[in-house]
This record gives sequence, structure tokens and C-alpha cells, in this order.
Amino acid sequence: TDFQSLNLSRPLLKGLSALGYTKPSPIQSASIPIALLGKDIVAGAVTGSGKTAAYMIPIIERLLYKPAKIASTRVVVLVPTRELAIQVGDVGKKIGQFVNGLTFGLAVGGLNLRQQEQELKQRPDIVIATPGRFIDHIRNSASFNVDSLEILVVDEADRMLEEGFQKELTEILSLIPSKRQTLLFSATMNSNIKSLIQLSLQRPVRIMI
Ligand code: AMP
Repeated sequence: TDFQSLNLSRPLLKGLSALGYTKPSPIQSASIPIALLGKDIVAGAVTGSGKTAAYMIPIIERLLYKPAKIASTRVVVLVPTRELAIQVGDVGKKIGQFVNGLTFGLAVGGLNLRQQEQELKQRPDIVIATPGRFIDHIRNSASFNVDSLEILVVDEADRMLEEGFQKELTEILSLIPSKRQTLLFSATMNSNIKSLIQLSLQRPVRIMI
């Protein structure tokens, strides 16, 4: 199969082809059609499998289905580290480079807080965040909120728990709309991750590649 047969819109196909992606990887073939239906997903996927595009592609496509009337943050991608956040943002921007008006923001520790506040004030469509800094922004910024959140991605869930973000994740889940789509990616599964899945997903489709 190729990306064409996944029913993606033209600007996305253009972005993928600009990146040199011709064929979806196994995790992408499995995840994209299910995520496009709006279902929750738990995917076992390691770095190098193409997991970033496996969620970025359906996210951007779903944003296109229903254009927002006013600027609002509609997707949050939680990642364990600043480095990964920057990397994920770069991939997203490249995939979405031909999508009109698509905006990205970062909410990560170790980068200038004020500058991030200015950026988040514009309510970027997709915010990529590390858990602690994300909570700081929600608590302290009058002009940033996630009331319009439609999709939550938890990337590298196992590393997130290893880094000790359990408490922050639980708090974030209590701050965001419960009616949403959630996509969770993890290289490994253990009882802590199973608890997180219980807490954050609804009747997820399980994808193990
Ligand atoms: P990831 O697992 O998301 O870190 O991706 C691993 C690498 O595979 C990255 O360098 C991506 O740019 C690349 N990649 C992801 N999907 C594809 C694809 N469908 N075709 C070719 N390269 C890809």
C-alpha cells in the first residue's frame, strides 16, 4: 500500500512526498485508518518505527475535516523530554507544511517561558509539551487554555513514567476535556502503563507491531 490509499488529503500527501515518505511503515499502516475514525489507540512502537508520523498524519487530517472557527489548541502531544518535543514539532511542521494556516507551539521546560507564553497565547492548533511545563502554562497563563482540546497524544508513555511524570499526567488528565480522542504510544508495557491506559483511554484499539 501507499499513502494515497489511506484517503489522505492533497496537502498532506504533498507534505509526505516532500519528506520522501512514499510507503507507510507497518505502524503507520495500522494506526492511521483507525485514528482517522476517531478511535482511541494503544500502540506498541519503538523509536525508528515511524511512530511520530503514525500520529501526526491522522491528527493533521482530522483537523482538516473540521476547520476551527476561531484559533484554539485542538491537539496536545505529551512527550518525556524537550529534545523529543523539538523533534516531534519539526516532523509535524514538515508533514503539515502545505496545510494552510496550521500552527504549532511548544510548551517545554528549559526554553524561555515568556516567549512560550506569547506563542501559546495565539492558541496554536497543535501544542507539543513536556508534562511539568504544560501544567505551569495552564495554571499561570490567563490566555492559554485547552478547553477546545480534541486529541491527546501520549508519546513514549513508558519513558514518561520512568521520568517520574505519573503525578503530572494524572493532573493533566483532570484538566483537559474528557470527551476527546487519545492516542498512546509506548515501547514497552508494564502494570504502570496499564494503569495509565485505564485512566486515559476509552475502549482503545490495541496495535502491536
Ligand atoms: P520515528 O520512529 O518517528 O522516530 O521515525 C524514524 C525515522 O523514520 C525518521 O527519520 C522518519 O523521518 C522516518 N520515517 C517515518 N516514516 C517514514 C516513511 N513512511 N517512509 C520513510 N521514512 C519514514
